[in-house]
Amino acid sequence: MQFQTIIEPFRIKAVEPIRFTTREQREAALQAAHYNLFLLKAEDVLIDLLTDSGTGAMSAAQWAGMMQGDESYAGARSFFRFESAVREVTGLKHIIPTHQGRAAERILFATACTAGQIVPNNTHFDTTRANLEALGVQAVDLRCPEATQPALIAPFKGNIDLAALERCLTENTGRVPFAMITVTNNSGGGQPVALANLRAASALCHRHGVPLILDCCRFAENAWFIKQREPGQAHRSPAEIAREMFSYADGCTMSAKKDGLVNIGGFLALNDDALAARCRNNLILTEGFPTYGGLAGYDLEALAVGLKEVLDENYLHYRIRSVEYLGDKLTQAGVPIVQPTGGHAIYIDAKAMLPHIPPAQFPAWALSCALYLEGGVRSVEIGSVMFGRQPDGTEKPAAMELVRLAFPRRVYTQSHVDYLAEVLLHVNSIKQRIRGVQIVEAPELLRHFTARLAPVSGALLGD
Ligand SMILES: *Cc1c(COP(=O)(O)O)cnc(C)c1O
Repeated sequence: MQFQTIIEPFRIKAVEPIRFTTREQREAALQAAHYNLFLLKAEDVLIDLLTDSGTGAMSAAQWAGMMQGDESYAGARSFFRFESAVREVTGLKHIIPTHQGRAAERILFATACTAGQIVPNNTHFDTTRANLEALGVQAVDLRCPEATQPALIAPFKGNIDLAALERCLTENTGRVPFAMITVTNNSGGGQPVALANLRAASALCHRHGVPLILDCCRFAENAWFIKQREPGQAHRSPAEIAREMFSYADGCTMSAKKDGLVNIGGFLALNDDALAARCRNNLILTEGFPTYGGLAGYDLEALAVGLKEVLDENYLHYRIRSVEYLGDKLTQAGVPIVQPTGGHAIYIDAKAMLPHIPPAQFPAWALSCALYLEGGVRSVEIGSVMFGRQPDGTEKPAAMELVRLAFPRRVYTQSHVDYLAEVLLHVNSIKQRIRGVQIVEAPELLRHFTARLAPVSGALLGD
């Protein structure tokens, strides 16, 4: 008998209460936060889908591992456990711990890049782009053509555009220190990259003498999609698939706050001996000795256990299905979302949902405020508040106006997801009443984190 219900593959040993608020309380909280969900107190949020980064729940085995943490400054036992866990997953030679993903990026980039160079990627995540640009390196996005159409259903919308990569490498001989591929493609909707795409990109890079680095924050989710969607892969384990993914790369940068199943941590891994030695020296300068890299011994233990747990098939099945389950409910109700659902998040297409709000009045931002006001749900705008301000100070609407609902790992249950669906469908039923918002005050850089906004017509919901 094959039962259909996919259950959470765990039982709950410790619980953390969530706080219920009234609509009046949320209205006051939203005003006090100047209509910016980043400025809310987390306590005033019922279901928090702001990010899947560092927000997951650790297992009993991880907590037990933490008690085994060896806090020796150099050569700690915990480092060797961590190192062998990372090596088992990636097959890469030199493993360098860092306190999170962007530290791994900064150390690699500062060591391997010089001003005037170019680094291609399927889509640079904001920290990889910012760390490259800070060095005067140009970060170019080469997403595949399917990736630009939110409603299009295709299996591997995270793929890098191979023809564009070939052109980039040919036209910039000697100027590309390495190419990158982000798995899954976070900024592109959490969409996976196919093994075939990784294999071809790797061959292309190596023909041009250019190393390939994976931004591998969600490598396990990517491996699960390959197992489900790529011909000939169904019989393989996620661990085997992940190992093949990494075999095409010469190194990786990792935010373990995602598929490391920990609240803090990351690493850089490299095959090149000389480059790794130089990165270790840079690490000592800012992060710490190479056997702890800015982490406590107990963090390294938790990460070593998390990297094994994240490749468990029952976990990945539940994880990807819970996101898809919400996506199915929204699609059935006619709520426009980026298709197909990605690994870690749902992206609502606010431009399609709220055509009565012009991009200059930030429809995705307004929608995220309405979701909080009506249901206590926190999401994040990925639209013109985040990307609209140009370096010269002018405004240009972002390509898409999206609201991202990112799922923390192993934190919420199916009834939480059912509740979310109910809130989203309710907000969809009153969408005509949602009004646009305007920026009252904002810093020049990364304004979405601290900007103050207000509804254009006094109230967020009209009649
Ligand atoms: C989160 C993330 C990073 C940065 O990692 P931090 O741990 O937040 O510093 C880099 N790349 C991708 C794709 C990410 O999702």
